[in-house]
Amino acid sequence: MTCSPSRPHIAADRSEEWTDWRWQMRHRIHTLNDLTDWIRPTEAERQGVAETEPVFRWNITPYYAALMDPDDPACPVRQQVVPHINEMQDDLVNELDPLQEVAHSPVKNLVHNYPDRVAFCVTAECAVYCRFCLRKRMVGDADFFLRTGELQKAIDYIADTPAIRDVLLTGGDPLTFNNAHLEWLLTRLTAIDHVEIVRFGTRMPVKLPYRITDELCDLLAQYTPLWINTHFNHPNELTADADEAIDRLLRAGIPVGNQTVLMRGINDDVETMKALCEGLVAMRVRPYYLYQAQVIGGTGHLRTPVETGMHLMKALRGQTTGFAIPTYVLDTPYGKVPLNRSWVRGRARDYVVMETYNGTVWAEPNPLPASYAHSDMLPRIPYPEAAETVASTAQRPAAV
Ligand SMILES: *Cc1c(COP(=O)(O)O)cnc(C)c1O
Repeated sequence: MTCSPSRPHIAADRSEEWTDWRWQMRHRIHTLNDLTDWIRPTEAERQGVAETEPVFRWNITPYYAALMDPDDPACPVRQQVVPHINEMQDDLVNELDPLQEVAHSPVKNLVHNYPDRVAFCVTAECAVYCRFCLRKRMVGDADFFLRTGELQKAIDYIADTPAIRDVLLTGGDPLTFNNAHLEWLLTRLTAIDHVEIVRFGTRMPVKLPYRITDELCDLLAQYTPLWINTHFNHPNELTADADEAIDRLLRAGIPVGNQTVLMRGINDDVETMKALCEGLVAMRVRPYYLYQAQVIGGTGHLRTPVETGMHLMKALRGQTTGFAIPTYVLDTPYGKVPLNRSWVRGRARDYVVMETYNGTVWAEPNPLPASYAHSDMLPRIPYPEAAETVASTAQRPAAV
């Protein structure tokens, strides 16, 4: 699973253009023809490009494309961004909003799930459209772009709701905004007395580290306390350019954490996960969450059983720095649930049953493959009468 770090002609190209984030945005790869400049696509990838087109967008920055192995279809970078025909073979291809985020939105693109904090999807634009994206249904979709008046409505809702002390700006990727637009937004949010912290969820340090300019950092430094969570999934993404971007953020007084999505064949083995977590702390990035991959249409081929993640977490403990170990969680419509035995009750047939922070019993569809090493990780339990589950996809099984 090694990737060549970059293609020779790219490594040599450290031109001003290459490190200009706007140039990178303008030169994103989104046709098969462009893609063949970077890799030799397999038949499954060629079909993926053709057939996913009407359903899911795709886009790759040249910087991130340079991290792909041109010859290895199993390259962990390549699998994250190149469309694959498996996306269309997922039975759940129409289940596009598993967290019922639209239902939990008091105003457009503001998800208010916890009493004291909100996730504010300020844009649908992203530098790269990841194949596993939680918001695959909305990224790049004009319907989800907010006009200034709509942003103002969400800001008004936050201002009118004193319980909100923590505002998470997400998307899309909020750092696709230009600096003037960010300043507009941050000035308004930080002027609200009860908003104690603002944080960004952004993948820019991973897929377009040149966005983290000195000017951006000077701007962000004015709105302290501001936190950033970024999203590295594999050690091959920990490049010198990413390291520099992180360093600039830290020097601006912004603590940086990391959220990783657990994905089959990408980072679901102990060695890779350990290398990722240790590489992150070496860059002074604190591993925060490891996410169980959500039940979202078009991503089934990348999902692992919950037991895989639990096994990884158990294997890391004692073997590395305590703060290199993230919390393994599943996001549900009732909040994030740590996937450990304090919260997880057990396995009921093809479901993993857990309790959420407010006491809701949640059953996550999570079938086990036929021969699977960690199938004894969880006790077998009957399917609970009162469990809630992904509404439109899961057939409720008869009690065992
Ligand atoms: C993840 C999330 C948050 C932040 O949760 P933390 O556990 O505090 O990081 C807030 N709101 C929503 C809707 C979320 O999904």
